[in-house]
Amino acid sequence: ERREAARTARAPVVLPDGRVVRVEANVASAAEAAAAREGGADGIGLLRTELLWLGRSDLPDEDEQVALLRAVLAELPGRPVVVRTLDVGGDKDLPALHLDPARSGFLGERGLRHGLAHPELLRTQLRAVARAAYAHDGEVGVMAPMVTFADEVQAFLAALDEAVASLGGADHRRPDRVGVMVEVPAAALAVDEVAAGLDFVSVGTNDLVQYLVAAERTLPAVAHLHRPDATAVWRVLEQVVRGATAAGATVAVCGNLAADPQSARRLVALGVGELSVPPPAVAAVKAALR
Ligand code: PEP
Ligand code: MG
Repeated sequence: ERREAARTARAPVVLPDGRVVRVEANVASAAEAAAAREGGADGIGLLRTELLWLGRSDLPDEDEQVALLRAVLAELPGRPVVVRTLDVGGDKDLPALHLDPARSGFLGERGLRHGLAHPELLRTQLRAVARAAYAHDGEVGVMAPMVTFADEVQAFLAALDEAVASLGGADHRRPDRVGVMVEVPAAALAVDEVAAGLDFVSVGTNDLVQYLVAAERTLPAVAHLHRPDATAVWRVLEQVVRGATAAGATVAVCGNLAADPQSARRLVALGVGELSVPPPAVAAVKAALR
């Protein structure tokens, strides 16, 4: 019976109209990637690399980054994995970077903002992703967090092109899909501009909701304002799906909203084709969609 349940969890979700919805997992380690596979995830929709690096006092060099990424990819043979570039600042600290708290808060130099301010760090990570992708027999995506404007997307794409070109004859593969997170209201409301030239966008509802309702995601005192059914949030989500689709990008949702079965159904009804949730939530989300 357990084997039957596992087989059901692994099967893809096919809607009555034939559309396949991918239910993937958010992970931060090879152990979580294994749990995601066991739990029936169709892939990894969000690999939080800053957490992959956690627990060390120094920064991993390029070779170490490649090894860390390969260990995660090896858990999901044949399946798609989206690697997110470093998302530091806000609620995510990385002691080795010695971030200045006055500068890297929730409204500060977070995510891609930090990456563009430290091009060597971003370049090394993009090289590591391209090298790790070489050995994976599934699709590899790369995406940037905390994007606000289209010119940042262009800078990210240029950094990726440059990093890949710099690898020359070394074993590597340019990521098959390139995207960004949509988690800043300005990016959500102008997603047609932000998504231009991208393969996908992935909506980070944890941050998007925090910024829309002006309530820090880490503060229990205002947690009640993070309502999964907030009218404003759904109006923005609807616009994101419409705008990104018109721009030719597919839409994923990787925030915790996607793990709420009711919301997952609503997202899919809007046209979202890819949900990424914590590994233990994969089976329940698939069941809700079925
Ligand atoms: C989000 O913001 O919704 C998200 C998925 O990213 P993180 O929780 O890592 O900020
Ligand atoms: Mg986020």
